[in-house]
Order: sequence, then structure tokens, then C-alpha cells
Amino acid sequence: MPFELSPEQEAFRKVVRDFAEAEIAPHAEAWDRDHVFPVETVRAMGELGLFGLPFPEEYGGSNADFTTLCLAIEELGRGDQSMGITLEAGVGLGASPIFNFGTEEQKQQWLPDLCAGRALAGFGLTEPDAGSDAGATRTKADLVDGEWVVNGAKAFITNSGTSITSCVTITARTGPGEISSIIVPSGTPGFVVEPPYRKMGWHASDTHGLLFDDCRVPEGNLLGERGFGFKQFLATLDDGRIAIAALAVGLAQACLEESVRYAKERQAFGAPIGRYQAVAFKCADLAVLVENARLITYKAAWLKDTGKPFKQEAAMAKLYATEAAVTATREATQIFGGYGFMDETPVSRFYRDAKILEIGEGTSEIQRLVISRELGLPVQ
Ligand SMILES: Cc1cc2nc3c(=O)[nH]c(=O)nc-3n(C[C@H](O)[C@H](O)[C@H](O)COP(=O)(O)OP(=O)(O)OC[C@H]3O[C@@H](n4cnc5c(N)ncnc54)[C@H](O)[C@@H]3O)c2cc1C
Repeated sequence: MPFELSPEQEAFRKVVRDFAEAEIAPHAEAWDRDHVFPVETVRAMGELGLFGLPFPEEYGGSNADFTTLCLAIEELGRGDQSMGITLEAGVGLGASPIFNFGTEEQKQQWLPDLCAGRALAGFGLTEPDAGSDAGATRTKADLVDGEWVVNGAKAFITNSGTSITSCVTITARTGPGEISSIIVPSGTPGFVVEPPYRKMGWHASDTHGLLFDDCRVPEGNLLGERGFGFKQFLATLDDGRIAIAALAVGLAQACLEESVRYAKERQAFGAPIGRYQAVAFKCADLAVLVENARLITYKAAWLKDTGKPFKQEAAMAKLYATEAAVTATREATQIFGGYGFMDETPVSRFYRDAKILEIGEGTSEIQRLVISRELGLPVQ
């Protein structure tokens, strides 16, 4: 059983790590403080090829495997969770549904710019009154004279309102008991991007509510088959769970590194605090958390890459790695003492950024539900 990444994967990890250390980590505190979405950095991520990783070369991608995408998300997330989620959502929620379910014409229209990082796309599933219960979608789209007329609202949509957002794919009711996905280009009349939310964390990530008021798009903007929207987003979320787990691994890794460094430096009672078992053992426990979170995440990515079933493992990876990341940020903040509560200390930002990992792309409770069902339990 091999536990090693391939030389290509290791080399690529180093490229992304070097990029994140040079271009992202030094600015992360200021972006967080000023709530800046750094478009030029996102473009630079595009030039590095990050947004095109899992897509074929004909659309500007590099045909990399899913594990390589996870490595990139992990490394960005180690420097800044906001940039990690920008990549994760840009690829997993923005470009992937178009690649997986779109017509050739739709792929040709949208993917080259998305793969190059010249554009971003969002995926609008969640609504003000339908999140975990996404089948309760109320947004509707009626086919009138060859156009979809969309009315409704979406909530918390990542990458939906940046200056380079080209489109958002939304789910909508297209008939009784029928949910379909429809691509809505940015700037379409009747498509309103609400002001950014005031969030606990992810301050450099772009998140908006969206309104659709008699918003008309061509009939050809239907993504895949009519009535398949529910199936499409379930498949999209299975992949997303592994990618969010990778983002969590990056955060837990950063907590471990910061904690060990500080435990060696910070003096108390005439010795570095790492001399005291209460602190040293927290670091040891963090190392175990990171190792487990990474293994369960890479295993799920490997299952996907090798064409094996991975639904349960994806849910397990998301559940375990995100809860590990939340624990890691809490323990790292404790190790930093009062400085851990100050915003200029990275672990303070990590602490605020962590919580959403247990919520976005399926809450911990929903992961437990998926795992229970895979175990054959009749759980509701
Ligand atoms: C910053 C941010 C970015 C996001 N980006 C996107 C995006 O790009 N696209 C998108 O579509 N969505 C996005 N989301 C939405 C996110 O996926 C949802 O918030 C999440 O799925 C939970 O839905 P909800 O907020 O409606 O919570 P609810 O579904 O209302 O859940 C509330 C609580 O009830 C629990 N619960 C609900 N049902 C059950 C059940 N059957 N059994 C047990 N417990 C249950 C939940 O686990 C949770 O604890 C984003 C959210 C945030 C905060």
C-alpha cells in the first residue's frame, strides 16, 4: 500500500507552497483586516494553472488528477483560507458543473477563461430558506418564448460578485417536482448581486446573496438535462467534500507549525513553554490530528482518482478533517495565550476562518447523515 505522492505531485505541491508563501501569506492579515478580495492574486493563481488543474488541455486545463487539486487547495489554505476557498469553489462549484454536465458549446464558451483564472463562476444552490434541505428550493424558472424567466433568491454564494465573475449556475424549479440547473451570466438584467455579507471569517473570500427578478436567459443556458439539477448538485457536493477536507488539512497544518514555533520561542517561568507538558502534548495531539486528517483526505481523493466509489469516504474526510481543523485552531490559539486573541497573530484569523468548514458544502450533521445511510441505517 503506497503512502507516497508521486514525484510530480510532490514537485507541484512545492510550487504551490512557494507561491503561497511568497504571494499570499504575507498579505493575508491585511486582506482579512480590510476585507479585500485580491483580484490580481487570483489572476496570478490562474497563471500558475491552479484553476485549470482537473480539466482537459483543450479548455486550457492540465489534466491533473483530483489529488493534485487537493494538494493545491491544502497549500493555499495553509497560507490563507480565503484564497484556498476561492480556488476550491472556483474549480469545484464554478467550472466543474459546466465541465461535467454542460454541452460542448457551453464548455467552449465558459471554461477557457475559468481555467485561466481570468474569470470565476459560482454555484447557487443554497437559498434563504433552503440549505441542507436543498430540495426545498423555491427559485423558479419558467420557459417563456424560448427563454428561462428566473425569479427567486440565493444565499451565501461564493465567488458570485467579484469583478471577474462571469456567471453563476443556479438550481431552480422548472416544473412540479422538477429541479434543473441554469447558467446565469453576470450582468444579466434582473440578476442582482447583493452587498457582501459581514462574516466571522473568510474576509478575503467573496460571498453574496443573489436576487432574480424576472431575469431572462436563453433556453440554451440549461445545464445538462432538464430535471437533473438535484442529481447534479449531489455529485458536485461529493467532490466538494474532499476538496473542503483538503482546505481543512491546510489549516490544521498551519496551526501545528505556528504552535510548535511559538512553543519553542515563548518564555514563561524561565523556560520555553514547550518545556511544559501541557503545551508540548497539545502540539503532539495536533500532529496526530493533522496526520489523520491528511490520510483520510488523500484516501478519499485517491478513491475518486482510481474510479472507485467514494461517497462515504468523502463524507468521512469532510467530517473528520473539518472538525480536526476547528480543534486545531482552538488549541493553537490557547498555546498563543493573549497574543492568540489579537488579530495580527495568524492563529486568531485561523480560529475565525475555521468554523465555516464544519458548515459549508454540507454541515457536519449532514455528513453524519450520509455516513449513517451508507451504513444502511434507516436514519432520517
Ligand atoms: C461563507 C459561506 C459560503 C458559502 N458558499 C456557498 C456557495 O458557493 N454555494 C451554495 O450553494 N451555498 C453556499 N453556502 C451555503 C452552505 O452550503 C450552507 O450554509 C450549508 O449547507 C447549511 O445550510 P443552512 O445554512 O441553510 O443551514 P440549515 O440547513 O438551516 O441547518 C441549520 C442546522 O440544522 C442542522 N440540520 C439541518 N437538517 C438536518 C437534518 N436532517 N439532520 C440533522 N441536522 C440537520 C444543520 O446541520 C445545522 O446545524 C455558503 C455558506 C457560507 C456561510
